[in-house]
Amino acid sequence: MSETVADVLIIGAGASGAALAWSLAETRMHVVCLEQGGWIESSDLPGIATDWEVRQAADFNFSPNTRGRPEDYPVNDAESPIAISMFNAVGGSTILYAAHFPRFHPSDFRVRTVDGVGDDWPLDYEQLTPWYNLNSRMMGVSGLTGDPAYPADPPKEFALPPIRLGRLGETLARGFNRLGWHWWPSDSAIASEDYEGRAGCINAGTCLVGCPQGAKASTDVTYWPIAIRRGVELRTRARVREITVGPDGMADGAVYYDADGVEQRLRAHVVIVACNGIGTPRLLLNSRSKHFPDGLANRSGLVGKNLMFHPYGIITGVFDEALEGYKGPPGCSLMSHEFYETDAARGFVRGYSFEMLRGFGPVSTALYGVAGGRVFPGPGHHEGVAPMIDRTAGIAAICEDLAEPENCVTIDPELTDSDGIPAPKVTYRLSENSRRMLDHAVARGKELMEAAGARDTLTQAPLMMAGWHLMGTARMGTDPRTSVVNDWGRAHDVKNLFIVDGSIFVTAAAVNPTNTIQALALHVADSIKRNLGNLFD
Ligand SMILES: Cc1cc2nc3c(=O)[nH]c(=O)nc-3n(C[C@H](O)[C@H](O)[C@H](O)COP(=O)(O)OP(=O)(O)OC[C@H]3O[C@@H](n4cnc5c(N)ncnc54)[C@H](O)[C@@H]3O)c2cc1C
Ligand code: SF4
Repeated sequence: MSETVADVLIIGAGASGAALAWSLAETRMHVVCLEQGGWIESSDLPGIATDWEVRQAADFNFSPNTRGRPEDYPVNDAESPIAISMFNAVGGSTILYAAHFPRFHPSDFRVRTVDGVGDDWPLDYEQLTPWYNLNSRMMGVSGLTGDPAYPADPPKEFALPPIRLGRLGETLARGFNRLGWHWWPSDSAIASEDYEGRAGCINAGTCLVGCPQGAKASTDVTYWPIAIRRGVELRTRARVREITVGPDGMADGAVYYDADGVEQRLRAHVVIVACNGIGTPRLLLNSRSKHFPDGLANRSGLVGKNLMFHPYGIITGVFDEALEGYKGPPGCSLMSHEFYETDAARGFVRGYSFEMLRGFGPVSTALYGVAGGRVFPGPGHHEGVAPMIDRTAGIAAICEDLAEPENCVTIDPELTDSDGIPAPKVTYRLSENSRRMLDHAVARGKELMEAAGARDTLTQAPLMMAGWHLMGTARMGTDPRTSVVNDWGRAHDVKNLFIVDGSIFVTAAAVNPTNTIQALALHVADSIKRNLGNLFD
């Protein structure tokens, strides 16, 4: 076993770990990041070849259980109607993400005050705005200012003009206009033009298996190259088994397995966890010691509790005319926040957003047609699929989940990864509020498709594979009895331990979380820098 000492140890090199590492780099401290995955070369991405949809079902599957790469860990999600989706590599799940990049609404940080459910966050929209804007520049976010769904002041800043709507987007926009519903060009972490050494999007449409062009802002092409140039040490194929604690109850480093499966020890003065809403509670719960017999930083008993997803409904319209849905990023074109805030008349609290989806590739069109009962395997299959190819447009309803302690991540008593580290188990039940919200969203989605001119509509709700927004399992707050970390990500129980990923969310909002995850990581990094002198007080 070898041993080195770092000033700061970051665990996880995904969306949050990268932003934090970049920010801390300017301190010239010895910052080391341990990441269980490796670098994904653009030449290894499925999008460079025509069999990309086949690889999406195999080594680039959303589910770590199906992918089963050596760097993946299994997740027991048998007790959840929503399966876990993530990726383990430099860049983390941003390698696969759709890069739809909206910000939370001001009300999302004040849900208890506004709607009497959930809890308020210990910080607000105004405090995060500078970090959202910084993240916009660092990730190269494309979008259009002036969205009436957000406050005019402080304004949302974008680095680039929005992604084009395309024929499909214009078709759905006409539907929204006919109904008089809000829509706006999406905030997208995709470079609509060349940006800071990254080539602009060429509309190849394979974002969900990675972007060989480098236009999609996965953090392996945004934050990491700069962080490494500035001196951060990134160790790949380094899988952390546990965070260790000294005699004083402070975190003092980690034990990990290197690429050869050899156990290594890294000592550190400050430890920061960025392993996502599943990997973080797993690591904390696996880090048991005399000081923390129930898992590190878990005196509140809340580590792993309050898991939130975004229950998804997908509404797909089948049109008579070609929509050129293959041209452009599949999840980034337009969004609607018409049903975002609570309206008591709808029979549920909080709300949902719509995110436009472009068309599917031929394999997905066929599979979706079969699942939707529109086409069948066997004779006549091709004749059934042909009228759907490039004739479908979709929208995803992203529903706000409410935190419930019974929805949780625990340690599976039997399952382990390839290094023998105990694996997480997810227990999740769709709430009555979410069910009603999904029903409402599906009904509105069908209305939209009709208004846009669709001749047929297919729906899926909840979407089984949609466990890709992982939040709430180490929530922030001011009271150590009801939260795990404070308003700058510091664990109440361990003063030199921080958490920066979606685990620290108090509420889920009704938009994709990654912009907020990274804005929070930048805020935490800034707070650490400002408090360096008294971190251990
Ligand atoms: C298919 C898909 C589509 C998505 N689309 C969107 C979208 O359009 N918009 C959006 O906002 N979000 C989207 N997301 C979600 C987005 O990717 C995540 O919110 C974001 O990446 C989370 O950032 P993170 O830093 O918390 O975790 P991740 O990015 O998942 O990174 C965590 C990292 O920690 C590493 N790690 C975990 N445990 C250990 C350990 N024990 N030792 C060492 N390393 C470890 C992992 O290998 C991983 O690289 C999508 C995700 C998927 C899978
Ligand atoms: S559509 Fe654009 S962002 Fe997506 S993979 Fe293609 S080039 Fe990359």
